[in-house]
Amino acid sequence: MKITQKTKVKDIFLIKFHYTRKLSNGETQHRRWLSYSMSQDKVYCFPCRLFSHLQTQIVKEGCCDWKDLSRILQRHEQSQGHMECMMKWTELFKGIKHGKAIDKDNERLIRESQKYWYNLFERLIDIINYLASQNLAFRAYRESFKLNKSKNSGNFLDLVKLLSKYDPTLRDHKQRINEKQLNQLYLSHDIQNELITLMSKLVINEIILRVKQAKYYAILLDCTRDVSRVEQMSILLRFCNLSTGAVEEHFIGFIDVAETTGECLTKSILQELERNDLDIQNCRGQGYDNGANMLGIRRGIRTRILNINPRSFFTPCGCHSWNLLL
Ligand SMILES: [Zn+2]
Repeated sequence: MKITQKTKVKDIFLIKFHYTRKLSNGETQHRRWLSYSMSQDKVYCFPCRLFSHLQTQIVKEGCCDWKDLSRILQRHEQSQGHMECMMKWTELFKGIKHGKAIDKDNERLIRESQKYWYNLFERLIDIINYLASQNLAFRAYRESFKLNKSKNSGNFLDLVKLLSKYDPTLRDHKQRINEKQLNQLYLSHDIQNELITLMSKLVINEIILRVKQAKYYAILLDCTRDVSRVEQMSILLRFCNLSTGAVEEHFIGFIDVAETTGECLTKSILQELERNDLDIQNCRGQGYDNGANMLGIRRGIRTRILNINPRSFFTPCGCHSWNLLL
């Protein structure tokens, strides 16, 4: 059948007609088992599709034989297989209504599982928060959660082991690991890194929110090479916290820089400010050390930023001692 808007409207009336069955005593009965698919323009028997393995058209592929539909529906609803499926469907419906269906048990198990993982991650996040705020290393050379395999598994895993002596959730997790019940332990360095990244995003978002509330800010920068000899620029923001009235300095991250020229560093700073949705026109201060790329009268960052925003006054390195310390 070619489907046009006109035939579709006609079909809907046709389907509505077939949703009612006329009994021999003259009464009408609603065919609640009949289901119409708008996308496929076919009718199905809902309970037979759930419970039956019948290969008839109305069960498997859907029926669109509109001319012969009355006869097909009548023959189907009088069949033994359909009646059995209707019984099962009615029982399931009652079970769901009174909370005795198998779904109820599944839902309970899913909720319990959710609670278990939520509790576990709550503890892992607290451990990461503690180690990060104390500037402690997370990993050791050998990482194993099993007690006998490694004497020193790093601060993170050893802290999990220690707390599992006293905390029921971690004790339960340790027991599941030892009994090999879990495919994923959620204790690897990848998980640690992922959690650290997510937490750092939250911290930076909070810092940026405070900067936006204060409106005006200063930037403090310094460059140094890391152990892998990649030039990195540290960025700090200095602003007045409006809720406490105190001046705060916050480190918001390292940026890998390809070159240490004034032009390249200025571009990186502007990109970083733009990424954090901070307007350079609200910058009221800049602080660097005395390098030529920083302070150069023509090509240094100081001059390039002053050209964009003349109000971003330069202050020498003494004002960013924390930055140098990093
Ligand atoms: Zn059926």
